[in-house]
Amino acid sequence: MTEKNSWLTNSVMPFQFEGLPIRGRICSLGQSLNKIIRQHDYPIGISKLLGEVLVLTVLMADSIKLKYKLSIQIHGKGDLKLIATDYCIPLNRSETPMIRGYAKFSSIKIDYSGSVQDMMGEGYFATILDQGEGSIPYKGITNLDKKGLVHSAEEFFLNSEQLETRFWILVHEKIDAEGKTLLTGIGLMLQRLPNIEGSKILEHAEKKGTRAVQDLAADRILSNSNWEKITSFLNEEASKAISQKKGNFSGLLLKAFSDKDLRVFVEKKFDFGCGCSPDKVVQTMSIYSRKDLHTMTNKMGKVTADCQFCGAHYEFNPSELGHDN
Ligand SMILES: [Zn+2]
Repeated sequence: MTEKNSWLTNSVMPFQFEGLPIRGRICSLGQSLNKIIRQHDYPIGISKLLGEVLVLTVLMADSIKLKYKLSIQIHGKGDLKLIATDYCIPLNRSETPMIRGYAKFSSIKIDYSGSVQDMMGEGYFATILDQGEGSIPYKGITNLDKKGLVHSAEEFFLNSEQLETRFWILVHEKIDAEGKTLLTGIGLMLQRLPNIEGSKILEHAEKKGTRAVQDLAADRILSNSNWEKITSFLNEEASKAISQKKGNFSGLLLKAFSDKDLRVFVEKKFDFGCGCSPDKVVQTMSIYSRKDLHTMTNKMGKVTADCQFCGAHYEFNPSELGHDN
């Protein structure tokens, strides 16, 4: 596996190591991330954090059997109040999946930097999984702790799927020839699969006494110490890569598993897309009564709504919205 330039575009690629109960994905965000940050005019610290959450959203969405939409919302009590992202699979499956995101923050504070904890203070990390028509959305909530954003996502997988998961995410900036800030996001996700399958193979191999099968089975059962060894190696190397602003996560992966064969799966593309529409706004506003809508009507006699994700502006006559009660 070599670092390909295409990874600087918008793609996510699953992989697996032969003989090991470990799977993972590598994600790269280029143009789509820059399209998203240009929808807004956020301080760089907030744009970069939004980029990290977007990388995390893509990795998480691709690792579950997503049929419709995965949303992440991080709520804080600090100057930065909210980071919200969505990964959405269009109803027409031939269309490219869409990502979008926005932030809410106090505009009085000019400089946003440091950890997510510094910016958001106390808060929580919510993952909302919506599998579309006929299903009730699942909401998983974990506290935002000092260990950071990634740790909250790791907790989500441990609580909802009992899967040990690790993420490494890097978002770095550069200035292009026109003086515009360009962001690139890279992320690596590893998941340790349950050892049940491995135990069965080992049991079978022991009965038969086949040496080669035993070796294979032993490999499939990943001991805690091996998993710790692999993840602490990646922690160390990834933090070096992050501090040096080098995003060669595929190289790190090959180093961590140097004696194993790697199987990679087809990489999937996605792009920025909002998917908001007048119909969806009408649907959202159907919760308001005529009385509520009266108080929301402006001097021009219209009820207005702005999409937080893409800035689209919608205007309606109050008679088109709400219900009678
Ligand atoms: Zn929109």
